[in-house]
Amino acid sequence: RKLGYAIVGLGSYATNQIMPRIKDCEFAELKALVSGTPAKLEKFGAEYGIPKTHWYNYKNYDRIRDNPDIDLVYVVLPNSMHAEYAIRASQAGKHVLCEKPMATSVAECEAMIAAAKKANRKLMIGYRCHFEQHNLHAVELVKTGFIGRPTLITSEHGFYAQPNQWRLDRPFSGGGSMMDIGIYSLNAARYLAGEEPVAVSAMEYTDKSDPRFKTVEDRIDWQMRFPSGVIANCVSSYSSNHNAFRVTGTKGWVGMEPATNYTGHQMWTRQGGSTEQVTLPPPAKNQFVAQLDHLAEVVQTGIPLRASGEEGLRDMRLIEAIYRSAREGRTIKLA
Ligand code: NAD
Repeated sequence: RKLGYAIVGLGSYATNQIMPRIKDCEFAELKALVSGTPAKLEKFGAEYGIPKTHWYNYKNYDRIRDNPDIDLVYVVLPNSMHAEYAIRASQAGKHVLCEKPMATSVAECEAMIAAAKKANRKLMIGYRCHFEQHNLHAVELVKTGFIGRPTLITSEHGFYAQPNQWRLDRPFSGGGSMMDIGIYSLNAARYLAGEEPVAVSAMEYTDKSDPRFKTVEDRIDWQMRFPSGVIANCVSSYSSNHNAFRVTGTKGWVGMEPATNYTGHQMWTRQGGSTEQVTLPPPAKNQFVAQLDHLAEVVQTGIPLRASGEEGLRDMRLIEAIYRSAREGRTIKLA
């Protein structure tokens, strides 16, 4: 049988991107809804044919334990709620897919990993780009030497954040652009480099007179040095639109723009003095379906888990180092 997902938090990403795509999964289906808003349970329950017995709110959430139709829990709440709802799902004996950023601190990430381990359940983070074919192709080109020896990565992500939302309220977001869109620059730099950075140096600019930025940062740019000598220049912004990366080596480069959007990825390569646009055939599963299916397949067949809690923790450690570097105005060496 297909494994059943419970979706926790019926906000924009869950209802516009995730829920409509579960029907295309090979290994999973939508079985339960968790929301604090009864009207949303009524609306989406009707739309997706989810019976009332499979509706939960944040108070009776732990009762998912008693529902054998729920195998997998997808946490799509504001960042500061990820840890609590992922841990409660693990304690209820369910496997967890949790949105990025994994949580708002290293300590929370570690607690989530410990809870999943204790319950002997899987914990995966919503790094959909790890399942997106252009991103996977870019990684493959770097790995197989298409660009020669990699030397430089640029990775830019940003959008203009509209006022009055939890993303701009630190107790809910844990931080500004870095915690939301900047993590794409960071994660892409790491998967393109194929190794872990050894040093990070960051600079922040936030206009404190802008009412959007009372508690969180706007722009934070940083460099990372990797053991092989690759240097990454990364951008995170809530005041400008960016969605691109390029990895350059001794023989050429691979670039994408948009690089990590939901759709419409465009890719170019350069080698031997000529630049070409790369067109890939449509994938069997888009990134959303592939990501949703992956956790179910891991549980059913025992294939190795990609985008694990440990991967989320690595990014969170780096985010803390990036903030620290910007705050202290110095390069942070990483263990
Ligand atoms: P959203 O504001 O649209 O949805 C958040 C949901 O949480 C809402 O339904 C809201 O009602 C609910 N909620 C419950 N308790 C809340 C509280 N105390 N305060 C505020 N909201 C509360 O946000 P979103 O854009 O859907 O983001 C949700 C998560 O998904 C975030 O962690 C975000 O980083 C992540 N996300 C990931 C992607 C991606 O491409 N992987 C894209 C968008 C969002």
